[in-house]
Formats: sequence, structure tokens, C-alpha cells
Amino acid sequence: MSLSSTIKYGQAALAKKGEDYFLNQTRLPKDSRQSDDIIFKNDILNWIFDGHNGLSAAIFSKENLLNNIMSAIPQGMGRQEWLQALPRGLVAGFVKTDIEFQQKGMFYFHHIRETSGTTVTFVVIDGWTVTVASVGDSRCILDTQGGVVSLLTVDHRLEENAEERERVTASGGEVGRLNVFAGNEVGPLRCWPGGLCLSRSIGDTDVGEFIVPIPHVKQVKLSSTGGRLIIASDGIWDALSSDVAAQSCCGLPAELAAKLVVKEALRSRGLKDDTTCLLVDIIPFEQPVLPPTPMKKPNLLSSLIFGKKSQNFGDKATNKLSAVGVVEELFEEGSAMLAERYSDFPLNSNSGLVRCAVCQVDQLLSDGLSVNSGPYFSPASKPWEGPFLCANCRQKKDAMEGKRSSRPIRTA
Ligand SMILES: [Zn+2]
Repeated sequence: MSLSSTIKYGQAALAKKGEDYFLNQTRLPKDSRQSDDIIFKNDILNWIFDGHNGLSAAIFSKENLLNNIMSAIPQGMGRQEWLQALPRGLVAGFVKTDIEFQQKGMFYFHHIRETSGTTVTFVVIDGWTVTVASVGDSRCILDTQGGVVSLLTVDHRLEENAEERERVTASGGEVGRLNVFAGNEVGPLRCWPGGLCLSRSIGDTDVGEFIVPIPHVKQVKLSSTGGRLIIASDGIWDALSSDVAAQSCCGLPAELAAKLVVKEALRSRGLKDDTTCLLVDIIPFEQPVLPPTPMKKPNLLSSLIFGKKSQNFGDKATNKLSAVGVVEELFEEGSAMLAERYSDFPLNSNSGLVRCAVCQVDQLLSDGLSVNSGPYFSPASKPWEGPFLCANCRQKKDAMEGKRSSRPIRTA
């Protein structure tokens, strides 16, 4: 039996615009699983929202996303089953939150109409298994003890993501730079209408619906040597590469490490944006981790030296470390097509009721309503091969694929 894990946190943030939100150490709701506490003691959430054009989308997501994800995962599952169902629950929760925001969230903050949007990076840690769902350009990196730094998210920026540019264009959007005067183009690639630099987000009700809330989801299992997660908004990543961020705090305790990452970003680029960093060390439980004592705490120098020493020591044992530091990839899917995210979806149908895979509303299976095929789902030539969607969510799906709008289109 492998060692169980425990977690140490660090966090640091500097506000420029005040549109970043983050949460950590949140436990999953207790009734989300049928389980005993010992097995599931480490199911922990960490998430970052980086809002733009106002606060309402970030606040609305912070208050609704978790419930929407949990309600999309059937209750009473065992641990493995629950982890396998989590990626689909994440997709449903993100899409449902976006639909709800579109319907009522615009006036959410101080009752002022806003067309705000937000990036979301949502991390669930269960034992050695890490699941990350993300829209936008906040990022989660994993630094394993073997010194390998890997990206667990995908940057949904039009400038950097050719696949997303193709998708947006194919769905009816235009991608181009801001045209200031006399044909001079400036700044990063944006999509029009709306002028957003991101290709995925929650909110942004004034841009085309091909800016979708469907998250990239990646699930990995760490070896029992553990690893370090650095979850941060673009204020960090515009200044530091993944490798530099990991190196800048290597070997240091989590709380100090998070501060150093933010400091390093400031040093290289100044405070140009909200800069938020969550840092999570997932380490073997058997290594006793003592709370900082008054004697140790102010002694930064000795921590630094210790960090260096243990790093050098680690280098000598590289072969052994890389052998045990292997990360097992359990799941990765980033498609913006709902059908591809639900390809193996079990149909929830009993006593004539079917449940919408996204919003979880039950609907009576009546005449003229057939599941998974037929004209009810697809007026177009291609039959819809995904799970059951209610009329509302089906309309959203079509809008995201550029087939029709689920809200009035405003031209730029
Ligand atoms: Zn629905």
C-alpha cells in the first residue's frame, strides 16, 4: 500500500485592479460522496478567478461554480468512480454557471449592468490525484521532485493558441488585432465582436458565444514522493516562465515560496496586473511536517541554505528521484465540443424521466422526444451524438458551436 499524502499551503497576492479572487483549503461538501472521512481526508479545492471588465462574473462564479459541479456528479460513488466522473462534472458545472450568469448574473454585483468575464482555474486534490479544470490564461504547473516542471492547464489565449483561433473562426468569429489608426494594428490577437483576447471564459456576455466556458481538464496521479503545484493568474505568467517560477522557490517551504514567486514576478516586470499565486505542496504523510516554531520562523537565512543543500543532495540522487517521481496521466481532454466531452456518458433515464447532462433538470421522456438521435436534437444534417440536453442547454450548445445565438447579438 502506498503512503498517504498531506498538504502544505502558501499564498501571496498583490492587487492592481482588484479583479483576482482566490480560495484555498476549501473542503468538498461532505455529502458529495458516500465515504468515510479517513479515505477522503485530502479532497481539497484550490481555485483562482481572474476577472476582467468588472467583478460580477468572478464573484458569481465563486459563489455558484462549486455547487454546480457537485450537483452534476451522482452521489453515493466510491473514490475511484467519483474521480472518474469528476471531469464530466467539471464540464457541466462550468457550462451551467455560464448559462446562469447569462440569465441573471449580469446584475449580480451592486445591480449595475456589467459585461464582465472571468478566467477560472479549479484544482481538486484527492490523495495523490490532482484534477485541474481551467478556462482562460491562469495557469497551474506541477513541479515534481525529480525536477520536471509540467503544465496542467492550456492557455486559452488567441495570440498563443492556433487551435482555438481556428475554432473561433469556424464558429463565426473574427480574429484580429486592434486597429488604431490608418491600418496600424496593435496589441494581441482578439476576437470580434467583443475584442476579448481569451478564447474561453465564464461570462463575457457581450462577446460572441464561441468564447466558451468549456474547461480543459487534466487529471494526473503523483508518485508517493509528491510534488508542488503553483496556481497563478497571468500577472505571474506574463513575467515568468513555468521553469523560472518553479526554480525561484525551489526547496523552500510553501508559505515563503509563494511570496518569492510573486516577488520574482514583480522584480522582472513590475506590478502591471493583479498578481495572485497559490502554492500547494503535496507530500508524503509519513514525513513529519511540524508547524513553524517561533525559533525557526524568523531565520530565513537558514531556510534558504537548507533549501539549497537539500537541492544539491537531491541532484546526486537524480536517477532514483526521476524513477520515483513519475507522474501518471489519468485523463486529459480539452475539446470545446460538448459531444466530445460526453462521449461515454451513461444515460440517466428511469421511469420515463431523462436528466439534462449539463443543468441536471429532469424532463419527461414523451412522444417526439427521443434520446441521442432524431430531429429533436439536430435540425442540421449531423445527428447529435451526445447525452440528453434540455432545450435551454441545447440552445447554449448550438450557440457555442456558432449555429445560433442564445442571446441577442450585439455588433461591435
Ligand atoms: Zn439543461
